[in-house]
Amino acid sequence: MNTPSLLVLAGDGIGPEVMDEVKRIITWFGDKRDLRFDLSEDLVGGAAYDAHGVPLHDDTMAKAQEVDAVLLGAVGGPKYDDLDFSLKPERGLLRLRKEMDLFANLRPAQCFDALADFSSLKRDIVSGLDIMIVRELTSGSYFGEPRGIFEENGKRVGINTQRYTEDEIDRVARSAFELARKRGNKVCSMEKANVMESGILWRDVVTEVHQADYADVELSHMYADNGAMQLVRNPKQFDVILTDNLFGDILSDCAAMLTGSLGMLPSASLGLPMENGRPKAMYEPVHGSAPDIMGKGLANPSACILSFAMALRYSFDHGEDATRLEQAVEKVLASGVRTADLMQADGGKPASTSEMGDAIIAELDASL
Ligand code: NAD
Repeated sequence: MNTPSLLVLAGDGIGPEVMDEVKRIITWFGDKRDLRFDLSEDLVGGAAYDAHGVPLHDDTMAKAQEVDAVLLGAVGGPKYDDLDFSLKPERGLLRLRKEMDLFANLRPAQCFDALADFSSLKRDIVSGLDIMIVRELTSGSYFGEPRGIFEENGKRVGINTQRYTEDEIDRVARSAFELARKRGNKVCSMEKANVMESGILWRDVVTEVHQADYADVELSHMYADNGAMQLVRNPKQFDVILTDNLFGDILSDCAAMLTGSLGMLPSASLGLPMENGRPKAMYEPVHGSAPDIMGKGLANPSACILSFAMALRYSFDHGEDATRLEQAVEKVLASGVRTADLMQADGGKPASTSEMGDAIIAELDASL
């Protein structure tokens, strides 16, 4: 079999800092577990704008379409705030998602026991939490037409359109059911079928897909506003949450807070299978480029490292090694080694980005 290919786009701000630690971990898996990747690197976001005048060069886009997976750091920064909308660093990211047709965004919200006290909720509500939000990523309100700011009777009116086809709902529902089968076998689908026609269609199609091909998975439906409330009331009732682009944006941020820190949250965005059976895929931490801590060695590399663990599991079928890496991160936290974002005010000296990487690699060594 060919060596799987991985395109690394470190991006801006702390992106390159956290990605340096991921690259060390990729090297570790090559040396110690014989998991080798054909690794290439390129620019995205502000870094691509500085070099090419665009946030994503066409050649980089073409490369992303060819590789088995893309690993992205973060994009953006104050330096680019005044750029035209079409040139902003985030447009590079959106172009990758759109052109690779990455319609299923997977955001796990897992609360490591050592960090339960960092959650804004009580320890017993979040400790042991392990849920997965599957958010539709390429359609709905953020893409639907008509959109824009128009004039009506001399007054401005802002319009966005919530639009879903049944095929778009069908394919993301299948992703959620497939995932549920590998986890707790439960899917809760969230929409607003009480007030939105797109929500009625969403509920109908999810039910049809379930009845046709996934009747073994437990399916429930919930209005998204109730879902938000239930997420903070009793999040452990959920396994996989399936929802649309707009509600998913909000619900996944809400779930993120349950786990305590932005520096710990990975994500995967998956598309249709390629010829070799692997889904088109991009893996990235949930956090942004954190310009406030850039260049200070303060960034927590865990979210980016855990994103690579997701790549091992979902793109490369190395679930065992993904678990090995996740457990190494968990053990490091349990041992008390923490970056500054995970320290209480009187917690002592925080680990730097590279010291956190050192500690995770030491735990990986110990796992052999
Ligand atoms: P942010 O996620 O960059 O930072 C929010 C806060 O969390 C900051 O205080 C930051 O220091 C902290 N933080 C984030 N990641 C951390 C880590 N790994 N370790 C320790 N602390 C961490 O969000 P923001 O400040 O709203 O945005 C900054 C820039 O990033 C903006 O230009 C924004 O557009 C961009 N952004 C990019 C992405 C992405 O690339 N996917 C996502 C969100 C924001």
